[in-house]
Amino acid sequence: LISALHESTFEFSRVHIVADRSLFKHLDSAGKDSLRRLERAGGAEVSAFADGRLVELAFGTDRPECGAILVTHDFLDDFRRRFPEIEGADAIGWRPGRDARPVPLGRSFGSRTHQRVSRKEEALELNERRLRRQDVLDRAAADRFRCTSESCLVARLWPDELQELPTYDGRSDSFVCPSCAGPLEVVGTRLAAVQVVVFHGDQEVVRLLVEEGRPVTIGRVDGPGQLGLERHLPADAVAAVSRTHAKLDFDGSDLWVTDCGSKNGTKIGRRGAAPQDRTLVRSSKPSQWRQRDVVYLPEGVYLERSGRRLPLTGELEATEGPPPSDVAPTALVSDSRSRP
Ligand SMILES: [Zn+2]
Repeated sequence: LISALHESTFEFSRVHIVADRSLFKHLDSAGKDSLRRLERAGGAEVSAFADGRLVELAFGTDRPECGAILVTHDFLDDFRRRFPEIEGADAIGWRPGRDARPVPLGRSFGSRTHQRVSRKEEALELNERRLRRQDVLDRAAADRFRCTSESCLVARLWPDELQELPTYDGRSDSFVCPSCAGPLEVVGTRLAAVQVVVFHGDQEVVRLLVEEGRPVTIGRVDGPGQLGLERHLPADAVAAVSRTHAKLDFDGSDLWVTDCGSKNGTKIGRRGAAPQDRTLVRSSKPSQWRQRDVVYLPEGVYLERSGRRLPLTGELEATEGPPPSDVAPTALVSDSRSRP
């Protein structure tokens, strides 16, 4: 591939290889020798987590390689939320040529639905936390936990309750803190929930959690049982949303949406459906909101269900008291790998 790249029409100054450590076991001894030679000559590095290193080199803020272009067939789904610039970025792929010699080709990472990205992230997260068996996963998701260690960063950030899944310890058949690996205290049971993502244009603006039996309304300002979009949207979009616009209700298995007599209406339709194929959501009768449906509010504001099966994060409806501070929502809506 390296010599094929040098003979191709792609212009670049040099090739740098990032090899995943697991590659060695797939190489014969000549392959191992040549990778080691490249490594000693500075043309290759071996990483325990090659994908992450490649993404850092190409898209990270402290990238030493100015304008590095990736040669890969990967879609980098796990990294798309942290590096939105991956979407549409150019890359180089290859197809097999004569004599098994690869032929480099230009490709683009293209766009991925946020559902697909969420599912990939979740799979990665579950694997990291050793939550591989369904019965273990069910137990991990059934309770709310907190870490009580005084020296634990996560315990200091979220003293009342973990905002993420615990890690499973198979030897003791119990759950431990994902940050300090210390014991956890159960603070209560977790309600089944769905995570809803609010978009404006193509930008994700906020995620909210709709818990079983706790309907949430979406409107202009925060209030008891209501998520206000005023904090998240530009003024013209907020003006088109009614004071109390639509209600979301999760019964434990199905999610329902009802219009609250809004001025500009609420519509629902399959993702990608033409505007004339969207159905008006009524205020008299809830519409079922299936996984692939999009709920449309006015002015380019729309809602989709996230791809996560185990939603833990997202703003909860405001309860009595002052609106959340600027700090809290950021922590709540961030995913586990972008926390401070
Ligand atoms: Zn801890």
